[in-house]
Amino acid sequence: MSASPQVSRSASPVGHAAALPPFDLVIFGGTGDLAMRKLLPALFHRYLDGQIVEGSRIVAIARDARSDDEYRVRVREALAKVVAEEPRGIEVLDGFLALLSYRRLDLGDDAGWPDFAAELTVEDRVRVFYLAVGPDLFAVVADRLHAHGLIGQHTRVVVEKPLGHDGRSANAINDALGRVFDETQIYRIDHYLGKETVQNLTALRFGNALFEPLWKAEHIDHVQITAAETVGVEGRAAYYDRSGALRDMVQNHLLQLLCLVAMEPPASLSADDIRDAKLKVLRALRPITADNAAQLTVRGQYRAGAAEGRAVPGYAEELGSSSETETFVALKAEVRNWRWAGVPFYLRTGKRLPERSSEIVVTFRQVPHSIFDDGEGSVRLAPNKLVLRLQPDEGVTLWLMNKVPGPGGLRLRHVPMDLSFAEAFGGRQADAYERLLGDVVRGNQMLFMRRDEVEAAWQWIDPIRAAWQAAHEAPKPYTAGTWGPSAAVALIERDGRTWHEEGG
Ligand code: NAP
Repeated sequence: MSASPQVSRSASPVGHAAALPPFDLVIFGGTGDLAMRKLLPALFHRYLDGQIVEGSRIVAIARDARSDDEYRVRVREALAKVVAEEPRGIEVLDGFLALLSYRRLDLGDDAGWPDFAAELTVEDRVRVFYLAVGPDLFAVVADRLHAHGLIGQHTRVVVEKPLGHDGRSANAINDALGRVFDETQIYRIDHYLGKETVQNLTALRFGNALFEPLWKAEHIDHVQITAAETVGVEGRAAYYDRSGALRDMVQNHLLQLLCLVAMEPPASLSADDIRDAKLKVLRALRPITADNAAQLTVRGQYRAGAAEGRAVPGYAEELGSSSETETFVALKAEVRNWRWAGVPFYLRTGKRLPERSSEIVVTFRQVPHSIFDDGEGSVRLAPNKLVLRLQPDEGVTLWLMNKVPGPGGLRLRHVPMDLSFAEAFGGRQADAYERLLGDVVRGNQMLFMRRDEVEAAWQWIDPIRAAWQAAHEAPKPYTAGTWGPSAAVALIERDGRTWHEEGG
């Protein structure tokens, strides 16, 4: 089987990047890591593609004193690499920077708000407030936006994880937002949902006749979802220690991916049809409690080892004290409905793993009977697998049994049919934030989490944490640069399966 992508290059794409209506985007926390590393590069790329029109305004807010020009210098530096990689980068940079302004404002203090509000209440246009600040400020900002008359019909608010550290605190945040914003105005970002492959999952499932008839327990043996990082916690140790892998990764990203794999076909692509379908999956998850947590979950914490080609310290050394926080989780989930009865969903995520990779692997069942014989008995056929890679190279691979070309008998090999996005569609892969920010301006909530989804996710996660706490067991150690504790391997091998490895 050729490894070349099997896509029609002549077919015209369905949909293209249309210009956004003029908007005001206020980034609370406009000098922070998220703004500089993700939001502004994403906005710059959209500007470069002509999607952000003149007259749009981007206002950055933070507490430091600096002029508009000083802020633009800082953004210019932050964008240097992006600009250098783009053929027209330098040419259009000044135009983009002209959209930016900076305002000094302490969000915790009412003093500067009247002036700020006066600047904004100009026109009836889409206005987006992006809360790129800690969640402790969400309620404060929501109240002040309301008190200063800044919330109108076309206003939207964007919030990032962490949306609470458990169900109760998430509810408090959602209540605070819900007091002043309608649910249709609230955009809870999970940037995994903005990734090309994740959207392609929906396209593959519901845009082809091929997969959906097979998409059920009768034909699918199991599903694996992995989000592996090579980095440790480094400078973020204090934040991370209050969170851990279950809350930082599973509650949001991994569960969202599970929902997209497992959901029933929605009636349409409308935000609520998709979110209703995902919610049903969350509600169908088999609870993991003190009774079964030991069989269904593994938590680990990295010790010193080697990662990214160098010796690295353990988690406790980075933190400066011992800790019970997990930097690795593997678990076996089950969706209790007709479609998925008996099909395990194995999830795993961790820091200081051997490679940075996120993927969904759908493993189909074996053929019922092998007709192939190599003279020593029937040939073992590897199952078909659909691998959706989210990072580093977004793409889809379908593993098939195929004949090895040439004479010499009918020899079979498991080979990948590769649909690499970069190869198939050419050009740069847009970052998830580019799509998500555009969707906020357009008012499309499809890729954002609704309040009841967040609640349902916590309702499944909270008992797992409670079970761990009740068990009083420290996370199992694993050496940095390995695939987590050996118990994570045992978790899946007990069922006669193995974690997917590159190469089939
Ligand atoms: P950060 O680098 O610490 O930046 C925080 C920003 O908020 C700075 O611009 C800071 O500027 C400003 N700020 C803090 N307190 C303020 C106040 N009272 N009034 C006005 N401005 C204030 O944090 P970050 O990494 O960008 O993360 C921001 C939020 O996004 C956090 O909730 C984080 O968990 C979440 N998030 C971040 C990422 C990421 O990739 N970084 C990814 C997912 C989620 P001054 O200190 O000068 O005021």
